[in-house]
Amino acid sequence: MKISVIGTGYVGLVSGTCFAETGINVTCVDVDQEKIEKLNNGIIPIYEPGLETMIKNNVEKKRLFFTTDLKESLTDCDAAFIAVGTPPGEDGSADLQYVLKVASDIGKYMEDYLVIIDKSTVPIGTSEKVRKTVKLELKKRNANIEFDVASNPEFLKEGAAIHDFLKPDRIVVGVDSERAEKVFSRLYKPFLLNGHPLLFMDIPSAEMTKYAANSMLATKISFMNDIANFCEIVGADINNVRKGIGSDSRIGHKFIYAGAGYGGSCFPKDIKALIKTSSENNYSLEILKSVEVVNQRQKKVLPAKVLKHFNNDLKGKTLTIWGLSFKPKTDDMRDAPSLVVIEDLLAAGAKVKAYDPEAMEETKKILGDKIDYSGDMYEALIDSDGLIIVTEWPEFRVPNYKVMEKLMNNKLIFDGRNIYELQDMEEFGYTYYSIGRKTIKGS
Ligand code: NAD
Repeated sequence: MKISVIGTGYVGLVSGTCFAETGINVTCVDVDQEKIEKLNNGIIPIYEPGLETMIKNNVEKKRLFFTTDLKESLTDCDAAFIAVGTPPGEDGSADLQYVLKVASDIGKYMEDYLVIIDKSTVPIGTSEKVRKTVKLELKKRNANIEFDVASNPEFLKEGAAIHDFLKPDRIVVGVDSERAEKVFSRLYKPFLLNGHPLLFMDIPSAEMTKYAANSMLATKISFMNDIANFCEIVGADINNVRKGIGSDSRIGHKFIYAGAGYGGSCFPKDIKALIKTSSENNYSLEILKSVEVVNQRQKKVLPAKVLKHFNNDLKGKTLTIWGLSFKPKTDDMRDAPSLVVIEDLLAAGAKVKAYDPEAMEETKKILGDKIDYSGDMYEALIDSDGLIIVTEWPEFRVPNYKVMEKLMNNKLIFDGRNIYELQDMEEFGYTYYSIGRKTIKGS
């Protein structure tokens, strides 16, 4: 089989590489010439564990190619995946200009029957817009070429993307033709060996499934953050509450950790987009609106604790951030809570030093020299008045508290991810603020 994956970002690059891993001939296409040049020179533009080795292996085996030439990629192609960005527009709706540009280019260049697949997260009804766009281009060319449109939303998690793609919990496919269904069955057969299902459904349901999944996950997070804040007020401990409710098999342990708010390239924009689609259809998704409000508030909880500790005056203070990416094991800074924390600290006059194992280059693109970047986690603590943990990278979990106290001006930690035990903090004499738990006053 031969496929084209258009858009070589976090989703397109991982999907294309994983398809190549099964023996399929894959061409990844992007309009970003620099990105394609890098890939053709063996430089991987994003950080995703395991991706570099897998790309190199498939390039060597001549199954994985990178190009800016969409037309060439469609030669003898069975399926074309659209995996470009769908960023939020001003009003919160998903901006479809990139998806529809690709659809129109496919219509311009396709020569044979093709399954055109939306892998980008797109509002309900987008597949129809893609179909119309392709038809229009074919009509302009007077070309009578058959094609099908399908929706195949992606559920991979950055940081575990390869595992998620190779061993998916389920694959969701919206189709309305048997011919396209057969193409999907062949494409995805190697990924179903773990027994998880390939779910065929109508196209609007597939499009809705992606938004509903992200909305449910964001709801769990905001729910726990809301309860965590209330725990602090009434003297309960959110970690105990989490274990208590997570043990109920109807609830489960996953995605119920309180923290600094959700961020990333998906949840914030997808929640906004679904709220927007509902209002366009004269329906108000009340729960989701609250999920969004709680999350905006949650991103402010950590900086508010810092400000309160220092009586709202951070002038002359140096604060250290550990963890910048929106979650561990990625360099993705889109909508990262760390940006809100840093903005509030800078506005209150603080100097900010930061360390992240992978996301410093991406952060520099956004914040430039507004903050200082440190070579390692301990260097970032030199002369610091307090440490703020925003992203729970594994290497932060068991630090050397004795070394830390020698480097810092104060034994002070604000933990936005509850990664330390209260008992340890008491033992080592730190003043320790976390989310939804009591504050430890240091010695
Ligand atoms: P991304 O920004 O990392 O990548 C998008 C790529 O598309 C960029 O490299 C861009 O240059 C390219 N592009 C734009 N216009 C193009 C065109 N006309 N032709 C070819 N390439 C073009 O985005 P992403 O994070 O990979 O997300 C892609 C889609 O997948 C979004 O809809 C997103 O919501 C969805 N999604 C993302 C994730 C995730 O974890 N990142 C997970 C599931 C779904």
